[in-house]
Amino acid sequence: MKSSDCTRVLVTGGAGFLGSHLCERLLDDGCDVLCVDNFYTGTKANVAHLLSNPRFELMRHDVTFPLYVEVDQIYNLACPASPVHYQFDPVQTTKTSVHGAINMLGLAKRVKAKILQASTSEVYGDPEVHPQPESYWGHVNPIGVRSCYDEGKRCAETLFFDYRRQHDLPIKVVRIFNTYGPRMHPNDGRVVSNFIMQALQGQDITIFGDGSQSRSFCYVDDLIEGIVRMMATPHEVTGPLNLGSTFEFTIKELAQSVVALTGTGSKLVFADLPPDDPTQRRPDLTLTREALGSWEATTTLEDGLAKTIAYFKQTNGL
Ligand code: NAD
Ligand code: UDP
Ligand code: UDP
Repeated sequence: MKSSDCTRVLVTGGAGFLGSHLCERLLDDGCDVLCVDNFYTGTKANVAHLLSNPRFELMRHDVTFPLYVEVDQIYNLACPASPVHYQFDPVQTTKTSVHGAINMLGLAKRVKAKILQASTSEVYGDPEVHPQPESYWGHVNPIGVRSCYDEGKRCAETLFFDYRRQHDLPIKVVRIFNTYGPRMHPNDGRVVSNFIMQALQGQDITIFGDGSQSRSFCYVDDLIEGIVRMMATPHEVTGPLNLGSTFEFTIKELAQSVVALTGTGSKLVFADLPPDDPTQRRPDLTLTREALGSWEATTTLEDGLAKTIAYFKQTNGL
């Protein structure tokens, strides 16, 4: 599907992992793309290949400050996403989610733009309902080390729905489940990047806890297709909608797949589980399938990991 109704699109966090793939996709669809990023976790290298495109513009800006530009659509992705990065400066993480949402919603209101929020499965916390439907309100520790991210994202959702109720803004909220692929930060501490980097360097593969906790891993191309389709839905479709894969794996299974695909001699070692680490996670996609037609995350873990491993090998000279 093409994002055919777009002309000028703002992508905040556009130099990050997901943002850079989204910018690329929107340019392919014929949009003018304004990529805004403060390079906190994203890099210019992620979008270097887009700089020669006359329809692409890169702006260094922090979304916690107001932004006055003229656009038709806004994808709000700015926010560090890995636990290591979002816990490094937790106050800034909350500010980015909350002040960033207020500024981008204020901008959307002024220029009458459609605005999509990259929310997260973390709004469900350590879920007691499995798989997680959007109607589940979640099980989040409001004062724990993950709460700067989880509660920041929850508050951003509140703001999106209040701007909708108060100003009838065309909002779209997607709750993204664990996504991986090329351009993940090699040191962001997320499980896929960690395991691949460890395997390629022949280091021990660090499983936190006993590895029985599960995640559903979505390959980036599938996720971007879902995000673009969500933006194209009619005014009455606001979400929140889950976006992710329903292929659920334990962390130990993921480690074994990475070992098999890289052919590494690395050993699996076990370390302490971080606090509030969710034990299971898989999206209920009933509402998403209804709203987004035939969208499904179809890339297998094996295919997605193979592409991601090739990327990490090439960019890190391994
Ligand atoms: P990422 O860290 O690669 O990208 C985030 C980008 O936002 C980076 O380029 C960073 O520099 C930028 N940024 C951070 N704070 C900013 C600020 N104050 N102003 C401007 N730019 C800022 O992470 P990602 O995986 O690409 O995540 C993108 C979005 O998707 C995030 O909002 C994240 O919460 C959400 N998300 C991602 C996943 C996933 O599995 N990748 C899952 C759920 C939600
Ligand atoms: N804002 C922005 N760009 C705009 C319009 C608004 O960054 O083009 C910011 C502005 O700084 C404000 C926030 O968005 O703090 C919320 O704007 P809104 O109009 O909703 O509220 P108000 O300005 O009344 O606080
Ligand atoms: N994890 C792990 N080893 C690592 C990094 C992460 O076992 O080197 C675990 C982590 O404890 C969690 C899962 O992998 O249970 C997913 O972690 P990630 O940080 O990628 O995502 P999130 O916890 O935000 O879903």
